[in-house]
Amino acid sequence: SLYLDYCASTPLHPRAFQTLMDSSKLYYANPSSMHEMGFEASLRVEESREQIARLLQVKATEVIFTSGATESNNLAIIGVVRAWMKRTGRNPHIILSEIEHSSVYQCGKQLAKEGVEVSFLPVNRQGIVSPVSVKESLQANTILVSVMHVNNETGAVQPIAEIGELVKPMPHVLFHVDGVQGFGKLPVELDYIDLYTVSGHKIGGPKGIGLLIAKEHIEMDPLLYGGEQELGIRPGTTNVPAVLSLAEAIAAAFEEQQKKFKHLMALHDLVYSRLAGISELVMNSPQPPLSSPHILNFSYQGRGITSAMMIRMLAKQGIIVSSQSACSSKAKQSRVLMAMTQDEMISSSSIRLSFNETVTLEEAGYLVASVEQMVCQLKSKNKFDLL
Ligand code: PLP
Repeated sequence: SLYLDYCASTPLHPRAFQTLMDSSKLYYANPSSMHEMGFEASLRVEESREQIARLLQVKATEVIFTSGATESNNLAIIGVVRAWMKRTGRNPHIILSEIEHSSVYQCGKQLAKEGVEVSFLPVNRQGIVSPVSVKESLQANTILVSVMHVNNETGAVQPIAEIGELVKPMPHVLFHVDGVQGFGKLPVELDYIDLYTVSGHKIGGPKGIGLLIAKEHIEMDPLLYGGEQELGIRPGTTNVPAVLSLAEAIAAAFEEQQKKFKHLMALHDLVYSRLAGISELVMNSPQPPLSSPHILNFSYQGRGITSAMMIRMLAKQGIIVSSQSACSSKAKQSRVLMAMTQDEMISSSSIRLSFNETVTLEEAGYLVASVEQMVCQLKSKNKFDLL
């Protein structure tokens, strides 16, 4: 079958796989132990931290290993808010966008229940947040702005550099970026970003490992209480093989980024131009450079046609796709597409294609032919025949 759900998860990069295997055999000791084997494991973790810090041009002490991007996002948002509330005894204001991944969005919802003022920024029809709306939402008690780099449903690239520049002169306002879908695909500058989230399994690394880059000046409460690991901000025995494998995946992603980008653009151009020509479909992703070429989202415009139906039809052709983020795939409508279109039909009949560099142009051709066939079937058949 043809897997086109690389946004939901990727296979391990061969180098990351090898590192995971080797280090699982070699470095099983607890890196916090005082003996030689523990020391050796700890040394490898610190080497990985330094390697990642060099690649991202941050300090090693600014790299915090977590269980993944969900935890990184929670730590960044809830950790910063709690520390501030403890210090000041007041309720702060934070700004998020309506199209954030649920691991950011639900932090906002939860904090709102706890008395924090939360602004959710709208997006335009292309799914892009405006820096002007960030500016207009700032209040005297704003302490955090969180806007993702690349949207995980549509690929829309957010103006994080502009937002970062806007927020930079205000030292009391921190800027968090969920970098999960942009990392390793598009270049990113961490100069103007205070907190930055990365996930291992979206870039050829293992599941259950991620990063939060937290700049030195940031005051943050931990989410968990326990040992002194990760500068005391994230207790729990360090997952040594996953850390080493993540560092390898990041190194490989950086080395191969430009070459992969070219190929992803070729795939995107082919698929986009063909699908945009089908009148029953509406393209929900903007075109590069407003979108990252590895994600392409479209909807079927017709009553009663759902994402689930189309996922099943494409699966019959051996094509594996999704409709929205795996974390919210049980929802009938896409929150992201609703924010963009306010159209229930478009928001409940979307398909998200996501590519990686191993997808060939021939496979992309097969995908397009299969979508064309699906559209013909949807047009000609009663929807009940398709179930
Ligand atoms: N943020 C974005 C933009 C994502 O796409 C995802 C995964 O779907 C996450 C966060 C959560 O990542 P993890 O699976 O590492 O918790």
